[in-house]
This record gives sequence, C-alpha cells and structure tokens, in this order.
Amino acid sequence: MNAPVVIVGTGLAGYNLAREFRKLDSETPLLLITSDDGRSYSKPMLSTGFGKNKEADGLCMAMPGAMAEQLKAQVRTHTRVSGIDPGHKQLWIGEEAVPYRDLILAWGAQSVQVPIEGDAQDAIFSINDLEDYARFRAAAAGKRRVLILGVGLIGCEFANDLLAGGYEVELVAPCEQLMPTLLHPAAAAALQSGLESLGARFHLGPLLTRLQRSETGLEAHLSDASVIACDVVVSAIGLRPRTDLAAAAGIRVNRGIEVDRQLNTSHDNIYALGDCAQVDGLSLLYVMPLMSCVRALAQTLAGNPTAVSYGAMPITVKTPACPLVVSPVPRGYEGVWTVEGQGTDIKALCRDADGQLLGYALTGEAVREKLALNKELPALLA
Ligand SMILES: Cc1cc2nc3c(=O)[nH]c(=O)nc-3n(C[C@H](O)[C@H](O)[C@H](O)COP(=O)(O)OP(=O)(O)OC[C@H]3O[C@@H](n4cnc5c(N)ncnc54)[C@H](O)[C@@H]3O)c2cc1C
Repeated sequence: MNAPVVIVGTGLAGYNLAREFRKLDSETPLLLITSDDGRSYSKPMLSTGFGKNKEADGLCMAMPGAMAEQLKAQVRTHTRVSGIDPGHKQLWIGEEAVPYRDLILAWGAQSVQVPIEGDAQDAIFSINDLEDYARFRAAAAGKRRVLILGVGLIGCEFANDLLAGGYEVELVAPCEQLMPTLLHPAAAAALQSGLESLGARFHLGPLLTRLQRSETGLEAHLSDASVIACDVVVSAIGLRPRTDLAAAAGIRVNRGIEVDRQLNTSHDNIYALGDCAQVDGLSLLYVMPLMSCVRALAQTLAGNPTAVSYGAMPITVKTPACPLVVSPVPRGYEGVWTVEGQGTDIKALCRDADGQLLGYALTGEAVREKLALNKELPALLA
C-alpha cells in the first residue's frame, strides 16, 4: 500500500488542512495522529465559554469518528508521536514506525509553565485545549475567586469571560500595562478601565512567587510582599511553539519550526503550519494566518506547489467590556503614533514618514473604523 499523507495534530491547523486536501484529492490515504482525544473544536471558544455557560462537551463540534468518516481518513487519538526519521520517511510512536509520503507537523504550541514555590501548584491551570478547559471548569465549579497570571491577549480574554460568568477576578503580571507586546499604552489603559468597570483588579509589576493552601482556599504571595486570597489560578503567561521533536530530527527550528512560503521545513516532504510553524520568519499564533497556510499547503500536497501570502492580519480581542482590534506594526517597520479619543474609545494609529499606515489599536467606538483602516495596512507576506 502507498504510504499515507500523515498530519500530526487535530487542532484547527490539522483538521482544516485535511478538509481542504480532501476537496482536491479524495483518494490518497490520509492519517491524522493526535495526543489528545481528537474532538473537533474551535480553540478561540475556550475564552468565551464561561460567559456563555458552556461545558467542554458543548464546545465540541464533532467526535473523532465522525471526523474520520467526513475526511475519509484514519484518526488515531491519544497517540503521541515520539520521533521523526526523515532519512527513512517514517515517524515513531514509541517503538512503532509509521511510514509517510508527506509529513505535516501541526502540533501547535504548549503553555509556558511558571516555577512557583508552595504546596498548591496543582491549583494552577493552563487552558490550551478542550481537555484543559474541562479540567479547569471542574476545578472552578462552586468557587468564586480566580487569580489570572498574565495580562496578554489570552489573560485579558479569560478575565472578561470569567467576570461575565460571575467570578471575582484578579490579575498579576510583571509589566506596566496590559498586552505590552501588542498594544499602544493608550489602548491598554482603555482596556484596563473597561475590565475594571466589570470588577477586575490588576496587580501590575510583581510576580507570583508562592502559592499555598489556606483555611479558606489559596494564598498567592507576590514579589512585592502582597498576598491575594483566591480559590483557583489560571496561568496565561504565554505559549511556546513545539519544536523539540523537530529539532531532535535535525529539522531547522528557531522560535518555531522554520518553513518557507510553501510551508517546507528544511527536510524534503516534511511541512509545518499553525502555532508550531515560523513561516518565512513570522511566528503568528492566530487563526487567520493558519487558514492562509491551510489553503496553500492543501494545493501543494495535491500536486500544485503554492506559496502562502498574508495580507494584513488584524486581531479582534474578545473583551466585550472594551471592544478591541489591534494590528501590530510589522517587524522591520518604524513609524510615529498618534492617539485620538478618550476613556474607552481610543484610536491609536502608527504611520511612517510617508503617511503609510503601519498598525493600529482601536478600542470602544473606534473599532467601527477598522474596515476602512484595514484597506490601508501593508501585507505581512506579500
Ligand atoms: C484561549 C485561547 C483563545 C484564542 N482566541 C483566538 C482568537 O480569538 N482569534 C485567533 O485568531 N486566535 C485565537 N487563539 C489562537 C488560536 O486558537 C491558535 O492559533 C490555533 O487554534 C492553533 O491551532 P493549531 O492546530 O496550530 O494548534 P493546536 O490547536 O494546539 O493543536 C495541536 C495538536 O497537536 C497535537 N499534538 C501535540 N503534540 C503532539 C505529539 N507529539 N504527537 C501527536 N499529537 C500532538 C495536540 O494534541 C493537538 O491535537 C486563541 C488561543 C487560545 C489558547
């Protein structure tokens, strides 16, 4: 039998690639392998689930058996790939060798863990897939006070969602503003006041150093000597593309697995996309770039080599307390910021010396201007 096209990972990258590939090629054997339970779901829904009162089962869109049938593929769940042997075009699942025609790495990014002292480390949850979400929901049931580590995009979305779900929320982060790598300070201040109006309390500057059990729940000790009483902790301090297995196989990695515009890694017949990939130098852990890669790679796998291109990639942040859209200034560009508006309605624009719009942050009412501004933005990969 011909060796199959093998996709490792059944997140948005893996399943969407399989779906697009099947539109072009209904015959080539297709195998998907995932270390999780293989349920199809949309990860962005994980940070709106409490406000909508959705259990993990309610976020599941299809079971792996239904996906296998729909995709005319084999889906192996709870199966962890442990190595790649590019020389023999096979991968390893423990002792089992699995041959491939083409291998696609769509194995995502993992949550960064914090080294913290104390006897309550098991009360710290990262939420990066449906199973994490189910575990956190079970832990938070009947509790009231949530401490969130991190004020990046995901931390802020969880804050809004948990507040909407009736929890008391405090956030800790060793930085001066919300979403420091993405947001102009004026937009960050607008977001902060929007979340504070729902009851969020921010501790910007200190780190969590120790988490311990107390008679009433948990005590979080911060590096500025303050102590926060809480019941459960969400860690949202960042995601790191999974690169270890690729690097061990000699595949070139940097921040992510390095791929060119055709999603080729440094090795023949091995491709990468989604959160694990760094595409022509860009590591963008969002859905829009991933979907552009899906469409291009499906064509390539079906015999029509196709390069991916990215237009502008604005990010809508799911914080209804302060609607927010941001388009970060692409790397290598320099410009000057202007800020209009006040309170939670901020329009911050970055333009270069010729007046070309490079990036923006829009909050509140200013979000309405995004469609017009998007037309002015430069493409990220032309
Ligand atoms: C809470 C949250 C909210 C988000 N909201 C938004 C949003 O609003 N908009 C937006 O654009 N982006 C958002 N994102 C980012 C977006 O969801 C991700 O970029 C996208 O889902 C990544 O998909 P992926 O398929 O690359 O990775 P993943 O979904 O992480 O899938 C990785 C897959 O690989 C499998 N795997 C890993 N290692 C192995 C192994 N060794 N062997 C076998 N299988 C393995 C896993 O089991 C999994 O099936 C959000 C992210 C989070 C965490």
